[in-house]
Amino acid sequence: MKNDSVNRGSGQWVVPGSFLGVIEEFTPGAGTYADKGKIFANVGGQTLLDMQNRTVAIFPATKGVKVPQVGSYVVGQVSKMQSKTAVIRILKIGKEALSGVFSGLLYISDASQSYVDSIHDVCKAGDIIRAKVISQTNRLNHLSTVERQLGVLYAFCSQCGHLLQQKRYKMQCDNCGKVERRKTAEDYGQAIISDGDKEYESKDSAQKQERARD
Ligand SMILES: [Zn+2]
Repeated sequence: MKNDSVNRGSGQWVVPGSFLGVIEEFTPGAGTYADKGKIFANVGGQTLLDMQNRTVAIFPATKGVKVPQVGSYVVGQVSKMQSKTAVIRILKIGKEALSGVFSGLLYISDASQSYVDSIHDVCKAGDIIRAKVISQTNRLNHLSTVERQLGVLYAFCSQCGHLLQQKRYKMQCDNCGKVERRKTAEDYGQAIISDGDKEYESKDSAQKQERARD
């Protein structure tokens, strides 16, 4: 843990949520917060270490770093599934890519207007999803996918990894035939999302690529 902290000195650029150190080492100063004994950056900027007083603070970046806020629409990738929650790595806020690393939590109760049996009927790890930030309680981005335009944008077969096709009441893999469930956005398979080297194109061109590969 210690080699991750800001012991190396002042002037490091950090993004909101960056780990700065533990409270045994430092007192959290301006632009930081402590959670379970660890100190994190609350804003993006440069670290300021006061070794005399053992204080760590952040000198905020002049231009505000884009961070998720309540009401933000975000696009992300499902990184982990828990029993009633999906953990989502946020890639974009609105149309803007992020410089920092943010994650959000989607609870089963915030996933759909209708009753859902299991969070695994909402999304699965690897899916690309659009959601809205509904609260930031305990500094966690709580997400919702209730609205029609929210939900899974691209889903991948849990058996073979191919893009799932949306049929009327189910999602089906054209490659292996597996049938799955998702809470999809109304434009499932059509959104264009780019995340560095990963490009998710429209359904048509994705299908063409599949055919080209076959
Ligand atoms: Zn499949």
